[in-house]
Amino acid sequence: LLIGVPQETAAGEKRVATVPEVVEKLIKLGFQVAVQSGAGDAANCSDEAYRTAGAEVLPDAATLWARADIVFKVRAPSPEEVGLMRPGGMLIGFVWPAQNPELMQQLAAKGATVLAIDALPRQLSRAQKMDALTSQAGVSGYRAVIEAANAFGRFFNGQITAAGKVPPAKVFIAGAGVAGLAAIGTAANLGAIVRANDTRAEVADQVVSLGGEFVKVDYEEEGSGGGGYAKVMSEGFQAAQREMYAKQAREVDIIITTALIPGKPAPKLITAEMVATMKPGSVIVDMAAEQGGNCELTVPGQAVVRHGVTIVGYTDLASRLAKQSSTLYATNLLRLTEELCKTKDGQVNVNFEDDAIRGLTVIKEGAVTWPAPPPKLP
Ligand code: NAD
Repeated sequence: LLIGVPQETAAGEKRVATVPEVVEKLIKLGFQVAVQSGAGDAANCSDEAYRTAGAEVLPDAATLWARADIVFKVRAPSPEEVGLMRPGGMLIGFVWPAQNPELMQQLAAKGATVLAIDALPRQLSRAQKMDALTSQAGVSGYRAVIEAANAFGRFFNGQITAAGKVPPAKVFIAGAGVAGLAAIGTAANLGAIVRANDTRAEVADQVVSLGGEFVKVDYEEEGSGGGGYAKVMSEGFQAAQREMYAKQAREVDIIITTALIPGKPAPKLITAEMVATMKPGSVIVDMAAEQGGNCELTVPGQAVVRHGVTIVGYTDLASRLAKQSSTLYATNLLRLTEELCKTKDGQVNVNFEDDAIRGLTVIKEGAVTWPAPPPKLP
């Protein structure tokens, strides 16, 4: 079968769904690979590099979609892209079926088979190698620290120099999931003093192992909502948490917020009053900007200055490190392809006996199969 990789069409998206190093491995599995000319340019993957790896380079999106048996994408396809898709074709990429009911209908009407990488049952340990939410959140967490460092006027690490003593920057991370943990590790490696909080007490050890200090809210309430995710906390907890966050806001130089609750708007953790008490030149990076933001003053997609504090609300952090995020994403899709093609003959078997494959198959030959029943845990 022919795997096709078009150029991403969402505004500003720099990632690409496969990279030359992975093309070679897909070919070893028996597939042919075609890439739209220029698809990898923004991720430092040239047409020439894809050709050298064995891919065919096609001139435009229409040709690519018409030829491909399987299309690899990053972002959910636009209506125009679905229009170009071959009837009965296969699509693998982010789809977000709950948020995109019309897209689901269009894809089903095409008779497509659709594997939504965002629907992978992440709790299965054998699914980890395919977990693109985790790989992309890791890149975003790293990049959030780089954005903070870029907007901050001082060093992260403490230094004693002939020109004077410099104290280390203090960084507070709200939410210690995948992105938050990546941010903790990155900020600690740069030499900052790092503190973090999460409503799920189970992450405290991970925070410490990455070089951070876990700061608890003075209120007894467990924050796990099932499946490793958070729940909405009680009013009493939220009041105690606000008090603790207000104290941190006065003390630290940088706040990175990552708090999300599945299917709910992002919890508002940093109020306008807290921002006003931060030191001039402080920085907030709000990684929840796309879901409404953890900070009241965040403007999604922009960096703004309020009360002398730079508030970064970029919603494309992974795309800002396009070669890295594309390489990890491409490897996630390669691992998925290996599961689909155990026979290494360039054919795919969407095996519903396999919990991971069942979970992420949201449409099979035009029939909507989402949501999948929960996987049987080992
Ligand atoms: P996420 O992006 O949904 O949330 C980010 C973090 O914000 C979470 O840690 C959450 O607890 C925290 N949070 C939510 N509300 C908060 C609040 N009011 N105050 C402070 N923190 C708050 O989560 P994610 O990073 O995608 O994943 C979270 C968890 O999912 C992981 O830590 C892990 O337990 C689980 N997971 C498991 C696997 C696996 O088992 N293979 C893979 C990936 C993720």
